[in-house]
Amino acid sequence: MSFLSYLQGISREKLKLALYSATSLDVERALNSAEGDLNSLLALLSPAAEPYIEQMAQQSVRLTRQRFGANIGMFLPLYLSNLCANECDYCGFSMSNKLKRKTLNSPELEAEMAVIKQLGYDSILLVSGEHETKVGIDYFKQVLPQVKKQFSYLAMEVQPLAEHEYSELVGLGLDAVMVYQETYNPQTYAKHHTRGKKKDFAYRLDTPERVAKAGVDKIGLGVLLGLDDWRLDALLLGHHLAYLESKYWRSRYSVSLPRLRPCTGGISPKVELTDKGLVQLICAFRLFNQQLDISLSTRESPEFRDNLFSLGITNVSAGSSTQPGGYVKPDTELDQFEISDDRTPAQVSHAMKQRGLNPVWKDWESAWVAG
Ligand code: SF4
Repeated sequence: MSFLSYLQGISREKLKLALYSATSLDVERALNSAEGDLNSLLALLSPAAEPYIEQMAQQSVRLTRQRFGANIGMFLPLYLSNLCANECDYCGFSMSNKLKRKTLNSPELEAEMAVIKQLGYDSILLVSGEHETKVGIDYFKQVLPQVKKQFSYLAMEVQPLAEHEYSELVGLGLDAVMVYQETYNPQTYAKHHTRGKKKDFAYRLDTPERVAKAGVDKIGLGVLLGLDDWRLDALLLGHHLAYLESKYWRSRYSVSLPRLRPCTGGISPKVELTDKGLVQLICAFRLFNQQLDISLSTRESPEFRDNLFSLGITNVSAGSSTQPGGYVKPDTELDQFEISDDRTPAQVSHAMKQRGLNPVWKDWESAWVAG
């Protein structure tokens, strides 16, 4: 059974009703159970859990420290290209947006990496718009060996690929793939993805499974919070995660919980997720799954990020640029979305240490597996 057929077997209406009619008893049961499951995730994401956020936060901090210690992995996105053949109405890289398009060539990539290495990073997330021919598998096959020479941990957030293509990239050093469904509501998905290959809801939904079959170490899932009802989207994200973990237990998993941000020609959130709601969401996922990596991007403000760091977050970016070539030559015209936390990595690292956290710049040595 694929996750698409699993999803089609769920009644959205019934699930939504259960979510919005959960009681304080359901929340207390979830808080008192030793292991998280989908029923407890439902209760913890429900409006009934709002009065329990403090208790959820305390449990979340304890479970995170127990599993991850005080460590927070530091990574940085490197934008390879802003070329895109899709139209997503919330994104500055959409095909119809009039902006300078750029794809890094080999010397430009080298120059970007040199700046990032100087900042202290050893874990990199390669990002690009989705353009099958110009920023496709052939380009990635050229780029990966060059990047892997410099960085121990290499993740990608690019267009969905075929299973055999992911396998080829694993052979070149690929460690992780982030592929966000954006929303699990097919109608809302269709409304926001109006042109290009990304229109295909089912193909995107099936992507994490292809990634897992190709033997990628870590798979990142996510929704763009604000496109649809965030509680229901987050719950379905939990279903997707549970489905994948039960079938593909060799891979590790992470979630990313970005809120919709303003961008060039973009839209405003349909359903606003407040700061308090985001805290509830992060804690609900930690209580649901204690092994899960939870990432936090620079979309959130500095003060809010500082408060979130100790709550259940395990991976953080700092000093990010969201444009190709942006570390060498910042030019805000090319940005994918606005950044809220524009502190340097050193400043963010300092803020973490003041809270007793330990920013980790390198947690893997490639030589350990060489031979
Ligand atoms: S979200 Fe991705 S696919 Fe959509 S326009 Fe932006 S870069 Fe292209």
